Amino acid sequence: MRFPSAPGQQVGELKALLDQPRRIAIVTHYNPDGDAMGSSLGLMHVLKGLGHSAQVVLPNTPPAFLRWMPGFDQALALDKQKERTLGAIAECELLFCLDFNQTDRVGSLEVALKAAPLKVLIDHHQEPGAIATIQFSDTAACSTSQMVFDILSAMGHVDHIGVEAATCLYTGIVTDSGSFRFSSTTPHTMRVAADLMERGVAVARVHEAITDDNSLERLKLLGFTLNERLTVLPELDTAIISLSRADLARFDFQPGDTEGFVNYGLSIRGIRLAALFIERPDLVKMSLRSKGELAVDRFMKEHFNGGGHRNAAGGHTTASLVAAVERFRSLLPTLIADHPA
Ligand code: 5GP
Ligand code: MN
Repeated sequence: MRFPSAPGQQVGELKALLDQPRRIAIVTHYNPDGDAMGSSLGLMHVLKGLGHSAQVVLPNTPPAFLRWMPGFDQALALDKQKERTLGAIAECELLFCLDFNQTDRVGSLEVALKAAPLKVLIDHHQEPGAIATIQFSDTAACSTSQMVFDILSAMGHVDHIGVEAATCLYTGIVTDSGSFRFSSTTPHTMRVAADLMERGVAVARVHEAITDDNSLERLKLLGFTLNERLTVLPELDTAIISLSRADLARFDFQPGDTEGFVNYGLSIRGIRLAALFIERPDLVKMSLRSKGELAVDRFMKEHFNGGGHRNAAGGHTTASLVAAVERFRSLLPTLIADHPA
């Protein structure tokens, strides 16, 4: 099997580092998603199996639909256990940085992360910053979880992936590949998924756990959003959703409740670009999704302090919700004109 995400030199360096038991911390990005959690917890299980001490540290707690993942109860989150979380980074010999490539993606863990002497980055986002001693960056990979599988395999540790690690990595691949539908899904992705399934992943249960976990309030928020807060601009092939704090409060908003909403905009016939604006207490969070060659990561980096992938990017602004949407709409004609259908 070829391991596209695992260049030989870095594999050798990492393998040498892991030759003896190490005190390891694993950090991922703010508002961890399925791939952030899957890659971090998956790697944690394998490192522990290899005799290391491995602690997952999170900038904040993930949404409820990810808290069932094996090993989640062993993770530390800054918003729940500040001292222990910071302590785990300060005391580690080796810090894995998974599913992000800019230090500001870890929120209030940034200072601690920068101070860590020895870092290994594994990530698939565009335009990686040089933030680690050893960097695995594969912008073509569907997920960081798939990269973790590849790197473990290339180091000869594939058989240390037990059912718990396999369940975590499979979940990361499923969530970041849109259940194997995005164009980043390759035959290799399917082979990795098949391998993980052979290690005992209860595939139907994973999909159930991540998709059939709606609260009634969340479904009602979705209905309200589609009815009242969705604007379609047919001449620009664009759909925009914006939700105010009052909208969210009305439906008892919980973190993760608006996950996936942006995709409804993109599912409209003829739409190539969908934007979601969420008003948070301190800023407006934006999510963009696009089709085909219409690249949104560069646009978000240039205009909204963000980044991501060609067809899925995020960002934020301290402007008001109305001003953020207006600014986006004013930039939109140029973005669309630069990427004709
Ligand atoms: P989402 O829209 O689901 O929050 O994120 C889509 C993609 O963009 C993810 O890969 C995520 O890591 C990236 N992303 C989201 N928000 C930000 C941000 O504020 N900065 C950067 N650099 N990337 C982001
Ligand atoms: Mn990812």
